[in-house]
Amino acid sequence: MKLTKREKSKLVLEGFVTVGLIFLLYYAVYVIFTRMVLAFPQFFRSIWILGDVIISVQGDNVISLTPFLVVLLSLIAVIVIYWRLKRRYRQMQLSHIISELHYIAEGHYDHRISHDYGGDMSRVVESIHVLVDSTVAAMEEERRIEQSKDELITNVSHDIRTPLTSIIGYLGLIEEGRYQSKEELQKYTHVAYEKAKQMKALVDDLFEYTKVRQTTTPLNLSQFDMIQLLEQLVVDFELEAAKKQMEIEIVSPLTELHMEADTEKIVRVFNNLIANALKYGKGGKQILIEVEANEKEALIMISNDGPPIPQKALSHLFDRFYRVDISRSQENGGTGLGLAIAENIVSLHHGQIEAKTEGKWTRFCLVLPLQQEQKG
Ligand code: ATP
Ligand code: MG
Repeated sequence: MKLTKREKSKLVLEGFVTVGLIFLLYYAVYVIFTRMVLAFPQFFRSIWILGDVIISVQGDNVISLTPFLVVLLSLIAVIVIYWRLKRRYRQMQLSHIISELHYIAEGHYDHRISHDYGGDMSRVVESIHVLVDSTVAAMEEERRIEQSKDELITNVSHDIRTPLTSIIGYLGLIEEGRYQSKEELQKYTHVAYEKAKQMKALVDDLFEYTKVRQTTTPLNLSQFDMIQLLEQLVVDFELEAAKKQMEIEIVSPLTELHMEADTEKIVRVFNNLIANALKYGKGGKQILIEVEANEKEALIMISNDGPPIPQKALSHLFDRFYRVDISRSQENGGTGLGLAIAENIVSLHHGQIEAKTEGKWTRFCLVLPLQQEQKG
């Protein structure tokens, strides 16, 4: 630590004052002691340690200190001076740290208390840095949450406003009787109805999203056969796939795979993944559902051919409201919440989900533990 000029002179002054005080103290003790020795010489001589080793009486009243005593007293004096100076130096270090703390508290959170204090002080400084860092991280997290809530509200208002505007528009036309024929009336009603359904889907998704986002959401766990569940899902989607001239196929070396999960939520994940493959795999022919397992985990991969997802979009797919091609997704009625919900559901099950492109395949890979850890 670098001392200021003022601190240096304070230290020097402290040294002098200490030397003066010690000198005065020694002198007072010396005076009292000589008087006592002269008053009771026999007594003092009889105690060996106070005899020739420490003092010597010359003649009747001259007392001198033995070299041993001089060395001892000097040593004590040096120790006392060192201790006092060190204490004062510590106080100065402390006041340096306190003033830097004030500086940090004024909002300069990335300021570092830079001096090398050594010993305990440097451990204190280290702990202060850790404390400041964790406080700053907590503040940033808070700010991020706040910002993401604002974003959520903006996105939701935007996504609700668009269909709502057309619902109001078409209902307005109907109310004012501005239609030519029954067919036109029906067309307006149909558009308003479709837009209202789109809004409902968004609100449902939003509700689901906020529900599965909370890490405390309870899972309704049950044992089931994953292969059987996927086969059922394939049946549900077969008609839609046939309409798009696509084929859905389960590929697995397993005939059954028993595991534990919240089936309703897991179905939600696969529904979205298969629906996405059908919606966005336009021009593709195939949807593959590959299932494997090891002792602990199920590995499930849902892949579709068709237009690949651009590399830079891959890392954003699981962000809420993220849509690669907004116009095409909107025309498909998507809200961009499906994968965000899927990711939250998977992490509620302590699993992972990722998206990648491999050659002609767009793949969504899921890893799910076969059994969920029991709480408590
Ligand atoms: P929602 O699922 O809420 O109805 P969505 O399908 O648009 O809406 P997500 O499921 O989260 O939302 O998908 C986000 C975006 O990722 C989609 O809009 C689409 O652009 C892209 N995407 C998802 N799956 C695929 C896929 N298999 N192939 C190509 N693009 C995909
Ligand atoms: Mg989707």
